[in-house]
This record gives sequence, structure tokens and C-alpha cells, in this order.
Amino acid sequence: MINLVIFGPPGAGKGTQSEKLIQKYGFVHISTGDLFRWHTKNDTALGKRVKEIMNSGALVPDEITISMLKEELDKNPNANGFLFDGFPRTVAQAEALDRFMKENNSAIHFVVALDVTEQEVRSRIAKRKLVDNRADDEEDKLNKRIDEYFNKTIHVLPYYKNQNRLTTVNGIGVIDEIFNSICAVIDK
Ligand code: ADP
Repeated sequence: MINLVIFGPPGAGKGTQSEKLIQKYGFVHISTGDLFRWHTKNDTALGKRVKEIMNSGALVPDEITISMLKEELDKNPNANGFLFDGFPRTVAQAEALDRFMKENNSAIHFVVALDVTEQEVRSRIAKRKLVDNRADDEEDKLNKRIDEYFNKTIHVLPYYKNQNRLTTVNGIGVIDEIFNSICAVIDK
């Protein structure tokens, strides 16, 4: 069983690559962004708590995010591998994830970071806005999300690098070539 984290700034292509990885490897996909969007769309108690925060482009507090993630893990006791997308975004989340995996006698085996420049990310999100109108893609909110990535989330990378679990893949180019580079990490 392989557990993988896909990592990168907003608009790096995590969602696109995740879909392809699920098809090929049968991972259970856990995207905290999708989960939060589901809760806000369905106006659950959790959705009500996080709506404003998400719409501002800020990170949801660790305590809320980590407990939602734990719940999701517990729903899938027989998963043949997890793909985490948009989680962890802080070192506290990374530590919690390791703890949860260890409790199930498992581990995060690989972290694949999609390397994409800020300029590329901005141009992709500008295009995405034309077809998928996400409230947090408006300019000031997008700026906040990019700031959150470069101020907080980026610090997760040395956490995994120091433990030799990190591989950086060039995230600019043809979708299938990027996918092949990720598969090469998993299959090696
Ligand atoms: P992006 O396109 O910026 O990668 P996501 O779809 O992954 O965004 O997440 C959307 C929003 O959900 C984030 O801006 C944040 O408010 C919240 N969120 C998602 N995952 C996390 C997380 N691991 N920790 C804190 N907040 C999160």
C-alpha cells in the first residue's frame, strides 16, 4: 500500500494530476479543498464555520482541518492507499498526518511537489476563472492564497526533504509528461 501527498501552489495542477493518479493506482483521494467546498455548498455546521475564511483565501485553522481529515481517514479503513491533495499545508498538519498514518501501521511514502512559478500559476488561474467561477479566485483572494502558500505552506517542504521523502517534479509542460514523471516516482 502506497500513500502519497501531492503538493504545490494553487493552480499547480494538483487536481488534474490527482484524477489521473486515482485512475491508474486506485488511491482514495482526499482533497481538503474539495471537502471544505462540499461542506460550504451543503451549509453544514463545519461549512458555516469555514465559509468566510475560505472565501478570504486564508488557511482554515489547523484544529478544524486536522479533525476533518481524521474523520475522512476513519471513513476509509480498507483503503488501498491514500492520495492527499491540499493537505498538509502546515508543519503541524504534516506532523498530525504522520501520527495518524503511524496509528494505522502505515506511513506517507512519497511527497511529490509540483514546481510551478508564481507567474504560471497566476496565468492558469486567470484562464480557469473563465470556466469555473470560484469565489476565491478573485484577485485579492487569490493574492491571499498565493501569500499563504509562500509564507506558510512552503515550510512543509523541508519537513519532508529532511526525511528523504520529497521529490520535486517540473509542473510546467504537457499534462501527460508531468503525469509520467509522477508515476516514475511511485513505480521506482
Ligand atoms: P487551491 O486551489 O488554493 O490549492 P484548495 O481547493 O486546495 O485551494 O483549497 C481551497 C481553500 O480551502 C484554501 O484556500 C483554504 O481556505 C482551505 N483549505 C484547503 N485545504 C486546507 C488545509 N490543508 N489547511 C487549511 N486550509 C485549507
